[in-house]
Amino acid sequence: MSDTDTRDGEHGLRTPIVAVLGHVDHGKTSLLDKIRGSTVIEGEAGAITQHIGATAIPLDVVSKVAGSLIDPSDFDLPGLLFIDTPGHHSFTTLRSRGGALADIAILVVDVNDGFQPQTLEAINILKQSQTPFVVAANKIDTVPGWKPNEDAPIQQTKEAQSDRASSMLDEKLYEVIGELSDEGFTADMYWRVQDFRGNIGVVPVSAETGEGIPDLLTVLMGLAQRYMKEDMAIDVTGPGAGTVLEVKEEKGFGTTLDVVLYDGTIREDETIVVGGMDDPIVTDVRAILKPRPLAEIRTEDRFEKVEEIAAASGVKIAAPELDRAMAGAPVRVVRDRDIEEVIAEVRAELSEIEVETQEQ
Ligand code: GDP
Repeated sequence: MSDTDTRDGEHGLRTPIVAVLGHVDHGKTSLLDKIRGSTVIEGEAGAITQHIGATAIPLDVVSKVAGSLIDPSDFDLPGLLFIDTPGHHSFTTLRSRGGALADIAILVVDVNDGFQPQTLEAINILKQSQTPFVVAANKIDTVPGWKPNEDAPIQQTKEAQSDRASSMLDEKLYEVIGELSDEGFTADMYWRVQDFRGNIGVVPVSAETGEGIPDLLTVLMGLAQRYMKEDMAIDVTGPGAGTVLEVKEEKGFGTTLDVVLYDGTIREDETIVVGGMDDPIVTDVRAILKPRPLAEIRTEDRFEKVEEIAAASGVKIAAPELDRAMAGAPVRVVRDRDIEEVIAEVRAELSEIEVETQEQ
């Protein structure tokens, strides 16, 4: 998928942004790696696009991984954009216009370990930000007697298990469902959930064997398509809005911003306003950078320049005066708007972030 595939005339549907949360060691990183890995194998070369700080999985790749679980003609959202840094800190610092930057979340729970302090913390964060989520009940391959079927959909691999292993898994899954219910959520195995707005779907997965990954991608795609389509409708050619993931020194470019763009476009040479430690920073984009495809990486030359990029995507922005920019701060393209208004917008958003940091 090229960077402009998310466009459909002026108005288009952007890729939903997905975050991964959960207790330490429950498998957040492994799950993201597995999702990237399976999609690389299933897709044609270059089908998944590595962004800065994020990975985009286009619909056709989701559909290849999901196989018979989904019919791609039911979807018009372009795919899923996974934020590469899992965890609560990145989730809470990454915001967009007062809400969560992520449109949807995966809460990873180790089926053996159940709910742990950070699981509960994650649930509270998701509740507060009203972010829809699914639960990935991970490490199903560790159920005693489990016979792994690499990358298989869950029903298929479950049917291939002994009765004992299968019912052992059910038992563990019902514990997770019970724990969700203790937290005030109606939850069930995802295949029994009709309405994902009122109910949490539990998806059994293994980040080790890839079992259940087809199901997880199907559920995320379905949830986004069904309940978030309106939020994904953006003016894809409008002035860009994004959130700073990281402020980084980059050889040859000075201080750069890793940004997740969630609205509109950003172009080379445009004036942007960025949230800073003191006051909003007004500067001009010197370069928009994407990671070079792995096959083409030469040392010193990890990035390639693009003239323009559309939401949703992760990009690196090189510009002067970025030293006092902050992670979590808003980035706005000014374009044909009144610059003072854009500055006021950024300032208002910053004060919101600061108030919350003080409250924590
Ligand atoms: P994080 O802290 O939540 O990011 O957890 P990691 O992804 O680092 O995983 C913690 C440990 O659990 C690592 O040793 C992983 O190899 C292991 N792990 C993660 N997912 C699975 C799984 O599905 N099955 C098995 N057997 N091990 C897993």
